[in-house]
Amino acid sequence: MKLARQTGILLSIMAQRAYGVTPETEVRYLRGVGDKVAQVLAKLGIYTVGDLLFHLPRRYEDRTQFRKIAHARVGEPATFMGTVVMVDNLRPRPNITLTKAFLDDGSGMLELIWFNQPYMKDTLLKLRNKKIVVYGTVKEAGWGLQIETPEWEELGSEDDPNDLLGMNRIVPIYPLTEGIRQKRMRQIVYNALQYLNQMPDDLPPAIVQRVGLMSLPDALRQIHFPDSAEQIEPARRRLVFEEFFLMQVGVGLQRQKTQQERGIAMRIDPDHLMEQIHRIVPFELTNAQRRVIREIWDDMMRPHPMNRLLQGDVGSGKTIVAASAILAAVDNHYQSAIMAPTEILAEQHYINLHRLFLPLGISVELLVGRLTQRQRNEARERVASGRAMVVVGTHALIQEGVEFARLGLAVIDEQHRFGVLQRASLRDKGISPHLLVMTATPIPRTLTLTLYGELDVSIIDELPPGRKPVKTHWKTPEERIKTYEGVRKLIEQGRQAYIICPLIEESDKMQVRAAEEMAEHLQKDVFPDLKVGLLHGRMKPAEKEAVMEAFRAGEMHILVSTTVIEVGVDVPNAAVIVIEDADRFGLAQLHQLRGRVGRNEHQSYCILVANPKSEEGQRRLEVMTQTSNGFLIAEEDLRIRGPGEIYGTRQSGMPSFRVADLVKDMRLLEVARQEAFRLLEHDPELALPEHRRLREAVNRFQHRFVLATVS
Ligand code: ADP
Ligand code: MG
Repeated sequence: MKLARQTGILLSIMAQRAYGVTPETEVRYLRGVGDKVAQVLAKLGIYTVGDLLFHLPRRYEDRTQFRKIAHARVGEPATFMGTVVMVDNLRPRPNITLTKAFLDDGSGMLELIWFNQPYMKDTLLKLRNKKIVVYGTVKEAGWGLQIETPEWEELGSEDDPNDLLGMNRIVPIYPLTEGIRQKRMRQIVYNALQYLNQMPDDLPPAIVQRVGLMSLPDALRQIHFPDSAEQIEPARRRLVFEEFFLMQVGVGLQRQKTQQERGIAMRIDPDHLMEQIHRIVPFELTNAQRRVIREIWDDMMRPHPMNRLLQGDVGSGKTIVAASAILAAVDNHYQSAIMAPTEILAEQHYINLHRLFLPLGISVELLVGRLTQRQRNEARERVASGRAMVVVGTHALIQEGVEFARLGLAVIDEQHRFGVLQRASLRDKGISPHLLVMTATPIPRTLTLTLYGELDVSIIDELPPGRKPVKTHWKTPEERIKTYEGVRKLIEQGRQAYIICPLIEESDKMQVRAAEEMAEHLQKDVFPDLKVGLLHGRMKPAEKEAVMEAFRAGEMHILVSTTVIEVGVDVPNAAVIVIEDADRFGLAQLHQLRGRVGRNEHQSYCILVANPKSEEGQRRLEVMTQTSNGFLIAEEDLRIRGPGEIYGTRQSGMPSFRVADLVKDMRLLEVARQEAFRLLEHDPELALPEHRRLREAVNRFQHRFVLATVS
């Protein structure tokens, strides 16, 4: 009763003070925040009241019912309340200070320990006879139970209204930085929450209702100070939906814009072109390839620029699909550009396309760093005059000042290295070529919608016939001899092998040395009668190409390589890849490496040699041996590592979500996209008066997104 009254008084005081506060108001104008605290908050990225409201708890403590020490369970994190007794500093070893104390809650005693924080002793001594709250994972210690370096907080008294927020309720625990404590943070957030009643909702009410969402004020209140544990998830759901929805409305607007842009309507005779393709490739296209090629051609016939993402697992045959698009452009006397993320991949595309197009008399130009200045100028000149119809190069080379006479098609072969904005900047060169983006690895759908949401998607969901799944085995280093015997057997059957050196992160130089040593050892000691070649990133491009060409021609049996062969390299006769220290590679990388084999009808093998030290490394090996489905692997990768780490927020144009989690919230993203596109169908410009706030919110979201991308 007393508690409720005090809270009520508090509320009304704060509501008065909050008058005129908006999400854009700087935090230093909030009650309880001076310049000093504002500086601390800035370290957490909190500048405005809006930032503060979206600074969400990282967890909660249910302080309506503390765990009794007598009922503590080993291995479980829990919150306890009691008084501190028997504080002391120990020195078990000369360089270690151990601060030890006991928490007594009447039901039992819990040992609390801190390492090398001797000042903790004084801090704890001052707390004697006061109630503190302790959180941590309970461990078994010598005689009883223990928490190592617990989180803790002094529990206030009921006479101090400022402490009400930390008592008898589900209490938010925030991410903090030096200079601010939970108690203060809670007060500040609580104060900020008071003006919410004046804060209108950006989402159209119809959508809020249809999707079954909490109102924004309710959601913010509940996520910070939940009435009950059950309120947290729906509150979060509302906030996640809003982020996804704003993003997808932005994506939808971008899509409309390019769909209305004027492009080059090409004249394409599919039967005639298919016949040409039939002449130049030695195999039948798969149904998936045919379907995807038709989708692309259909786009190219429209008077608006194509904007399409081509996805397909490794080995699904994306190259010929790209070649078909190029063929259509050439047929219409338009130039095509292919941009690859690395030189080796550019060279690979060049070799492939050169070989494919030779019978048709179409010349392919290669623009890479190894050209002399003069060669480069000549190549540029051929591009500018329109004599070169197909140009292959790295992103950098093609972007930096190559003038095209008539660019009709740009193919970007990327590994998530280009963001939405960079793609837009290509367009801004004053031309509207058709755009085909190819991803080297499949990516989970949430990421497709996030990174490539404005593109149409074509998926090659079928491998060429006769492919046997690559058999993947996990071997320990002790089984290496046996592994090499297996390799030898395959070579005797006429196949070839890749052996990938362990990843050495310290330096390029050391990586090269390791590769050289390994190649030498294998040649001398293990396969003296076979030819062993070496490929690494520090070789000159011409050397690299010579090695690849020799391997392709079957002049060497074994290619020892660093990860430079990771993407795109295509030598169908290679039937086994041995990856040393496989646990140190990422999942996407392992999948790509494995994709180097299994490229024809022979049974292929991938041998992962590893003795994983981390749980994560072990998990990756398990995934690799269990599935060869690139989409599943990509999802698992996302789950293990998270999007930030995989794609590096900045370069990839990955928006930084404040609440949403691309793994957990996959389903909700689909719903948000549906709702966003449905809304744009009714109101394509967001011109209706009831969508004014939404339009502003979308702009704000995009602004945040742009900042994250270009800064
Ligand atoms: P991706 O780039 O999708 O990993 P590639 O385009 O490099 O795959 O093709 C992989 C291999 O499969 C190449 O050797 C290619 O010639 C071959 N290939 C592509 N399509 C077919 C097909 N329909 N039938 C047989 N082999 C194919
Ligand atoms: Mg490829």
